[in-house]
Amino acid sequence: MPELPEVETINRELQKKITNHIIGSVEVKVDRMINLPFLEFAKKLKGKKITKLERRGKMMIWDLSDGNYLLIHLKMTGQLIYQPAKSGKLIVGGHPIPPPSLPLVKGEGKESGLPLQGEGKIQLPNKFSHITLKFKNGSKLFFNDIRKFGWMKLVDSEELKKEIKKYGLEPLSREFNWDNFKIVITRYPNRKIKQVLLDQILIAGIGNIYNDEICFCAKVLPWRKISGLTLAEKKAIFKCIPEILKFSISKKGTSSNTYVTTDGSKGTMVEYLNVYQRHGEKCKRCKKGIIKRIKLNGRGTFFCEICQK
Ligand SMILES: [Zn+2]
Repeated sequence: MPELPEVETINRELQKKITNHIIGSVEVKVDRMINLPFLEFAKKLKGKKITKLERRGKMMIWDLSDGNYLLIHLKMTGQLIYQPAKSGKLIVGGHPIPPPSLPLVKGEGKESGLPLQGEGKIQLPNKFSHITLKFKNGSKLFFNDIRKFGWMKLVDSEELKKEIKKYGLEPLSREFNWDNFKIVITRYPNRKIKQVLLDQILIAGIGNIYNDEICFCAKVLPWRKISGLTLAEKKAIFKCIPEILKFSISKKGTSSNTYVTTDGSKGTMVEYLNVYQRHGEKCKRCKKGIIKRIKLNGRGTFFCEICQK
């Protein structure tokens, strides 16, 4: 699942491309991926300019010229691809779906069970292109999604407020300070650290990859209960959250497979991961532990049993 750094990365890349673009028309193949009847959705978007691209947790918030907002959530397997009007680089973000010409391989050890690799040119649109925004200047934005859990919602400012309420502390904002963090993290003392960090209502934007990396950074085991953490450990988690997320953004996020987009770019964070998907390998920090993988509340969880306590 694309997490905060991946969503931030695609939003920033798209910001450079589609700010001030006017939506000419919309195509929707899967109605449940939008929040309104298609006709209403299409009519309301037509002729609107995208004025600003923002983000809250893993949700993108695009301001429209009529005062409404287009919200986008990539969920498990959503992917956005911007195709310029003429020749030029594609901007690809979110899930690294391979071109449909390649067979989908059941992932070994990957909880997603999604394709592991693929190379080559992307066919656009393809069978995963469920929503397409066509801009007046001829460029297009494809919303591809294998599992179709992703969505686009067209909302007004009141509805936006309701949507935003579903998200807790924003890790890269000013509200993410020690006082707020302390309240949030101790709200459910009997929960495991991993449960708390993954709960979007408490802290927004962290998913499976960065949860494990944050626990490693803070030297705590992800299944420890909040009530059993020392003050120093809580402070370490508090410090590691923005540190890991910012670092990943600087590396343009994690592309967890070997898929290379047509412009050859991919997030390079995968080279810097310390535990996620590194089971069986030696710990980069203590140089003694072997990274282990277990299932915790149904999610693959990676850790070093030597330097995480
Ligand atoms: Zn270690």
